[in-house]
Amino acid sequence: MSTLEIKNLHVSVETNDGPKPILRGVDLTISSGEIHAIMGPNGSGKSTLAYSIAGHPKYTVTDGEVLLDGENVLEMSVDERARAGMFLAMQYPVEVPGVTVSNFLRTARTAISGEAPPLRKWVGDVKDAMTKLRMDPEFAQRDVNHGFSGGEKKRHEILQMELLAPKFAILDETDSGLDVDALRVVSEGVNRVHAATGLGVMLITHYTRILNYIKPDFVHVFVDGRIAEQGGPELAERLEAEGYDRFLTPAV
Ligand code: ADP
Ligand code: MG
Ligand code: MG
Repeated sequence: MSTLEIKNLHVSVETNDGPKPILRGVDLTISSGEIHAIMGPNGSGKSTLAYSIAGHPKYTVTDGEVLLDGENVLEMSVDERARAGMFLAMQYPVEVPGVTVSNFLRTARTAISGEAPPLRKWVGDVKDAMTKLRMDPEFAQRDVNHGFSGGEKKRHEILQMELLAPKFAILDETDSGLDVDALRVVSEGVNRVHAATGLGVMLITHYTRILNYIKPDFVHVFVDGRIAEQGGPELAERLEAEGYDRFLTPAV
């Protein structure tokens, strides 16, 4: 049983005009086995929250803390965060030319567990995970994200998550740009890992559609750099019907 605690988190992003405050006091606690949906309008700071927890260098924490089982995540390097059990599926996954999916996954697994997985078992595990995500086996020999379709990039993120077995996964708009079939496959992957390992999930999304497949225990509405409202799954249904208008400051 693990706990990820975000307390009073304030974050600024580095821009050409200097630091710009984005997160303005985020409080959120996720325990193992829980699925938290973070929903909110574009530009509200959802990706900033994900990147800050993952340790992206462009984002500076100006106040607050992030604790994983009481350990200060913000003092850890990006590698240490991954070893501690944090996983981020990015909204816009990056290309890694010259590195195959297969090598990338094995290197990541080795970095996280401190030793290379036994080759035979590893090859089998990768194959199994790819079959479950309905990925062509040839995919393993392609360069990471190079020429991948939107759906392939998202499947690859979930493939990483299945094989790296993190304690907590932050999934940043893993649903965006997916057709219904890909959305189902990706959601099944998340549900499978969640059921098998008690993965805690922060599911960031702009739309309620993915919540038909992945059932959140809690829904948080993110507006203007902080959580404006929280509730259970019924809150997502309300957002589906009403949109985000009532959370936004009317123009004067
Ligand atoms: P969301 O994921 O909710 O759409 P983001 O976290 O991506 O929101 O962005 C929040 C705000 O921070 C936006 O106003 C965005 O323009 C700004 N922002 C994020 N990253 C940068 C950056 N690298 N440079 C300038 N502004 C940024
Ligand atoms: Mg659950
Ligand atoms: Mg975003």
